[in-house]
Amino acid sequence: MAPTTLQNAFPKDTTATAIIIPSKPALSISYQRLAADVTAFQHQLAKLGVSAQSAVSIALPNSYEFIVSFIAASWQRAIAAPLNPAYTQAEFEFYIDDLSSAIALVPQGAYAKDAAAVRAARKYKAAIAECYFNGKEVVLDVKEAGKLAGKKGVVESAQPEDIALVLHTSGTTGRPKAVPLTHRNLLRTMKNIQATYELSPKDRTMLVMPLFHVHGLLAGFLAPLASGGSVIVPLKFSASEFWADFNQHKANWYTAVPTIHQILLRSPIPSPKPNIRFIRSCSSPLSPKVFHELEETFGAPVLEAYAMTEASHQMTSNPLPPGKRMPGSVGIGQGVEIKILDDAGKEVPRGKESEICIRGENVTKGYLNNPAANASSFTKDGFFRTGDQGKQDADGYVIITGRIKELINKGGEKISPIELDNVVAQNPAVSEAVSFALEDEMYGQDVGLAVVLKDGKSLTAQALKTWMADRVAKFKLPKKIFFTDVMPKTATGKVQRRIVAEAMLKKDQ
Ligand code: ATP
Ligand code: MG
Repeated sequence: MAPTTLQNAFPKDTTATAIIIPSKPALSISYQRLAADVTAFQHQLAKLGVSAQSAVSIALPNSYEFIVSFIAASWQRAIAAPLNPAYTQAEFEFYIDDLSSAIALVPQGAYAKDAAAVRAARKYKAAIAECYFNGKEVVLDVKEAGKLAGKKGVVESAQPEDIALVLHTSGTTGRPKAVPLTHRNLLRTMKNIQATYELSPKDRTMLVMPLFHVHGLLAGFLAPLASGGSVIVPLKFSASEFWADFNQHKANWYTAVPTIHQILLRSPIPSPKPNIRFIRSCSSPLSPKVFHELEETFGAPVLEAYAMTEASHQMTSNPLPPGKRMPGSVGIGQGVEIKILDDAGKEVPRGKESEICIRGENVTKGYLNNPAANASSFTKDGFFRTGDQGKQDADGYVIITGRIKELINKGGEKISPIELDNVVAQNPAVSEAVSFALEDEMYGQDVGLAVVLKDGKSLTAQALKTWMADRVAKFKLPKKIFFTDVMPKTATGKVQRRIVAEAMLKKDQ
């Protein structure tokens, strides 16, 4: 029978390798062992009184502790709420309060300093538990009991409609929104990802993205694990160790944001050359230039995908060969329906730009405590409005042109920031380019452009403008160019144009 919850989604009775932690010496965990450790941890949660739909905040880095506690919480019918362990106290307060978490899991040892901010954020009533792997089992050590103290719970059994996960959106376009995702939502994405990339027990993936966002959790971890393959889980992405771990543990694919691919391109090329089945790119636009550089350098097909928290991650992807890969496109709907709809909810003709909308079993039923966003996010027939602007070509390939809220509106003329970024990235002196809206007295908005130059290269604003004038219409030329050494990014490596704009204007003062 096809699995319907995370409780029956993974192989349990095999000695095949599920997880490799590439510490020295490396730790290898079989599927059997993982199931036993998760069951034991579930019993610890139950004993503490964590029951159906209690929220469990998990402020742990990528680690065996994260993996075991996340899966165990879902089996216990609890709601796992992973949090970036590097958050500040104010951020922990916001996220833990938003869900009224019953318990917050924090790391021990080297990372215990991160826990201080969680502890300090004690105005909520969550119990605080240190979580650590002692080589034999994953221990849940309640240091400071909150409202859970003294309760004795029962061991539960997960149901398909239970909320298994709540994550907040990245907050690119406003305040982060809490997205509840059920077992059914997650399993659909896992199946879609498995099918898109033909994942099998023979595959081994290097996890580089954090587990506290859908990209790392679903594409980098849950989907490959449910396929019976192996997942290599370093504590953090490290460019200098990436290929050594990749080769040593015989990985054959990875998924990451474009920033990580760029870092790998700038790092020493591995020898022997790794045997890569495919490279997946997602979460931010991949410029066609970087797409080609990656394919040439690593000799593997690069498959760009498109995802969002509300869809439990993946919506579209370019297919594996012999399917057609299209640089600059995020590919075709994968197990979901994609339509480009106008404001009235009517499908626009192929090739025309409007809002990208999606319908599928992976999509959330709606944000938590946000009736206004829920009312405006779904069409009458159940399509979710992504807030992204794009078009589809004759074969259904989706090209994202920007976020509706981020399009630069120059006196009524809509300018796609992604299109501009891609053009500027082709300049031989440019390493990275991000365009954004600048307030403008005359036009309302005009184009701002932040540029990081390649090491040792120089370029003036005027020279770049002249170079751009041969490639884009005059009205799209930037009003102001800001040169910067680093491009501000989020913890997951995403570019937020609003933040880049703020940082550039501040520097300019
Ligand atoms: P918020 O919803 O709070 O404004 P966010 O949309 O950045 O934040 P996420 O759910 O993490 O939060 O990101 C989803 C968005 O990321 C998509 O709506 C899209 O704009 C962008 N995105 C994802 N994949 C790609 C891609 N391959 N190319 C371009 N943009 C992408
Ligand atoms: Mg969003």
